[in-house]
Amino acid sequence: MKILVINCGSSSLKYQLIDSDSEKWLAKGLCERIGIDGSQISYQPAGGDKEETVSPMPDHKEAIRLVLDALTNDKTGVLKSLDEIDAVGHRIVHGGEKFADSTIINDEVIKAIEECNDLAPLHNPANLIGINACKALMPNTPMVAVFDTAFHQTMPEKAYMYGLPYEYYKKYKIRRYGFHGTSHSFVSKRAAELLGKKYEDLKIIVCHLGNGASISAVKNGKCVDTSMGLTPLQGLIMGTRSGDIDPAIMEFIAHKENKNIDEIMTILNKKSGVQGLSDNLSSDFRDLEKEHNAGNPNATRTLETFCYAVAKYVGSYVAAMNGVDVICFTAGIGENAPLVRKWVCEYFGYLGVKIDDEANGKRGEDIVISTPDSKTKVMVIPTNEELAIARETVKLVK
Ligand code: ADP
Repeated sequence: MKILVINCGSSSLKYQLIDSDSEKWLAKGLCERIGIDGSQISYQPAGGDKEETVSPMPDHKEAIRLVLDALTNDKTGVLKSLDEIDAVGHRIVHGGEKFADSTIINDEVIKAIEECNDLAPLHNPANLIGINACKALMPNTPMVAVFDTAFHQTMPEKAYMYGLPYEYYKKYKIRRYGFHGTSHSFVSKRAAELLGKKYEDLKIIVCHLGNGASISAVKNGKCVDTSMGLTPLQGLIMGTRSGDIDPAIMEFIAHKENKNIDEIMTILNKKSGVQGLSDNLSSDFRDLEKEHNAGNPNATRTLETFCYAVAKYVGSYVAAMNGVDVICFTAGIGENAPLVRKWVCEYFGYLGVKIDDEANGKRGEDIVISTPDSKTKVMVIPTNEELAIARETVKLVK
């Protein structure tokens, strides 16, 4: 089957056409600055060059129309007609408590996703625009919603409740949801496959370390805890997000700097994390590593604090699961930063973790980076959220 995977943001749209039999992408690209001056689309067919075209995109419907045009273009297109697209898989950020699984999209599902808008006001409305635009242009093609939160819906109550007045849970469903679920699910399943063990028999910790970063604990095939919360702001120190802080800091800064709650939220989401902690050196780990090697203390402090936070979360999930069989690293930093993996794993002596430095230096493939006599296995598994969405889509439309 040919599956079009759509990941629609407020002003951008990532797409990938995947052949579900070979599990290879046939074409992929990105529409940027939708609804803003200077919109452009990039398109790359498998085995071909990437092309970038500046083209006005007043809305997402126009963006999707351009994607479909590119896919069926006479010269560089990979499809003869749109009828060849068997289904569309949409990444949806928040499914609240309504969706513990992916689902075929119908009017009722669209309404239920709309009801989760409050929980992800920046993301869900954009995801819905993508759904509606596809529906208008391909009315007869089945569509599937794959939720970032769904994988974490198996968490027990004790892991998802906050120590807040219970009425807020009853009234507003304020609780931990967790995100990056497709990635945590994909990587943990792949780890079991690579180890040749049953998914249901393992205790797995997945460290998804990208610009946004989260950790999950997967016990006997089910997520039992994860570091992000009601929103993706909680948990690890991220590219520009603060992660866990003492909530009273918000009031302290508000008074000292004369800021309102919206301004404080912007600081926590956009100006904090490694960007803020490094005194605005960078939010990118490539820069931080380079500067650390050059002796810049802002970079060293930031890398050490980041790695310590990762190690503490892993430790807490070892406690939550009463052990761990395998620790996996994935996403931009997890897959590409051997220094971060090394520093994090230095805290795991108590787990009998030993790292093979040569294996840890490799890149771009599934690999075990612990030594054969390491008591706990450590692996790097490149994530592939688009493929995971395509698999879910096929499962439901077949
Ligand atoms: P997201 O999908 O959340 O935007 P990614 O998973 O793509 O993030 O990760 C992006 C981050 O990965 C970059 O900001 C950078 O910090 C890190 N990264 C990418 N390549 C490297 C590299 N070669 N070495 C170290 N860090 C890297």
